Amino acid sequence: MTFPFSTLAPQNDDERFMLEALKEAWKAFKAKEVPVGAVLVLNGRVIARGHNQMELLRDATAHAEMLCLTAGEAALENWRLADTTLYCTAEPCCMCAGAIFLTRVPTLVWGTKDLRHGANGSWIDLFAQSHPTHNVAIRSGVLQEPCSALLRDFFQKRRQEV
Ligand SMILES: [Zn+2]
Repeated sequence: MTFPFSTLAPQNDDERFMLEALKEAWKAFKAKEVPVGAVLVLNGRVIARGHNQMELLRDATAHAEMLCLTAGEAALENWRLADTTLYCTAEPCCMCAGAIFLTRVPTLVWGTKDLRHGANGSWIDLFAQSHPTHNVAIRSGVLQEPCSALLRDFFQKRRQEV
């Protein structure tokens, strides 16, 4: 299986880094995990990556964002992820939104909606209220189509196998 978006030409930095998150999602896809990926960027450079590993780790909390944030903390040797931007292919769930607040990630960029668990408006919006000390700047819908296509293909395939 080859990465389906190798011909995609990013038009800006957000798309460039979302494409990196998509490559992470592709790792999950190949491992028969729900294909969600994330990268953490600091000063124009990817410093941490993560993809969903719920099945491998038998852990419902092993979301791409969680693994990426933990890797970012290790890379920076600091739980405060100041000045970073988290790119994830899907709208974060409430757990990951919580982790984004706790790690002080200032900027979040996500790809496609998660209608079931999305915590930026699809199910609930944890980012809607202003926080006394920490607010997150959000850009959403970046490379929405490829991000959702990968999930769509995954669930279609799973259904065919049943
Ligand atoms: Zn999550």
